[in-house]
Amino acid sequence: MTSTHVLPATEPLSRGTQAWENAQSQLTDAAQSLGYDDGLHQLLARPRREMTVSVPLRRDNGDVEVLTGYRVQHNFSRGPAKGGLRFSPDVSLDEVRALSMWMTWKCALLDVPYGGAKGGVTIDPRCYSTRELERVTRRYTSEILPIIGPERDIPAPDIGTDERTMAWMMDTYSVNVGYTVPSVVTGKPVSIGGSLGRSSATSKGVAHISLAGLEHLGLQPGKCSAAVQGFGKVGAGTAAYLADAGVRVQAVSDQYGAIYAEDGIDVPALTEHVAHTGTVNGFPDGDPLDPSALLELDVDALVPAAVEGVLTEDNAPRVRAKLIVEGANGPTTAAADQILNDLGVLVVPDILANAGGVIVSYFEWVQGNQAYWWTAAEVDERLKQRMLAAWESLVASSQETGLSLRRTATITAVKRVADAHLIRGMYP
Ligand code: GLU
Repeated sequence: MTSTHVLPATEPLSRGTQAWENAQSQLTDAAQSLGYDDGLHQLLARPRREMTVSVPLRRDNGDVEVLTGYRVQHNFSRGPAKGGLRFSPDVSLDEVRALSMWMTWKCALLDVPYGGAKGGVTIDPRCYSTRELERVTRRYTSEILPIIGPERDIPAPDIGTDERTMAWMMDTYSVNVGYTVPSVVTGKPVSIGGSLGRSSATSKGVAHISLAGLEHLGLQPGKCSAAVQGFGKVGAGTAAYLADAGVRVQAVSDQYGAIYAEDGIDVPALTEHVAHTGTVNGFPDGDPLDPSALLELDVDALVPAAVEGVLTEDNAPRVRAKLIVEGANGPTTAAADQILNDLGVLVVPDILANAGGVIVSYFEWVQGNQAYWWTAAEVDERLKQRMLAAWESLVASSQETGLSLRRTATITAVKRVADAHLIRGMYP
């Protein structure tokens, strides 16, 4: 499917539109490999539902501002739609569409019984007070209320949102339906039905896959170096777990800057520094680094754990890492993916690498539905087991097909979704 946006050739595509085109081209490749006809391809290419809502906000000073929010449900052939809610100034309908499609493939690849969805509000949360963010969350939730629910679509945190956001969503939904419905969201605080181990799940999963990837390349973690782009929910935890495993985490960046330490960054000390200052900048035990240079460092493993479209045809030829583990969703453009593949870089795609979050979201939903809680050790063990089983099976299929991990993963996931659709049949 071509983009719905016709832009002059000179105008650069927005991050969201580029992500949506990237997602579409991955699907087109998979649909062609699977020999699907145009009808089936279109059915998988187009989101089942898209909702755009106005979110009026009364600012603390009394002014009214009207924000825009989205919820896109890409597919529910295998179960309820599932996916995060992003608060970011760059959120657009195309970005949410791309992220919702990737959620569908992620859930199918990990065999989590969900379809894919994503939500977003175009807002820079750093510029609003906590009370304002609560009002935005509650109004957005009530606007999308008709299409969410524990059996319909289950939001979770993503960039710019957290467990407090999920508590407000759960409360707003519950007040509106008249009873408490913990399973309408995942990534909630543990005190209201969140799962132990959910907040660290994505980064733990990225670390499990990074270590498995290094081992697959014949490298020992204790002799390896890594660079992590992003020091948020995913990047900070990944850096910490990799350092715990003996990997020298030489560089870390955030949206304000980057730091470098040849012998490895003291990640707990950096975490403390960021907790006090809000940025990695100014960390005394590291040297400042140009954030764009981080992606081109001579390290064994590179973990892009920030946003989409950071590895492009411009910088991909200069990447020196042997292994890239996509902590973010969609960090590699289609053109960069081809270049990295030609260079022999092993790229572990997002739909596997960062699936730890939705796996433990699934555990949270299961626990909530049964009102029976697992221990942190049980959650961690089941997470690790699922991530590594999916990794091993993906590596084996990719060796069989001779295709990259991403192409093999997308083909596997698309086939699972298409098979579910075909066996159910089309209504009417
Ligand atoms: N936002 C996360 C992701 O992109 C988690 C989604 C979820 O847990 O539903 O995978």
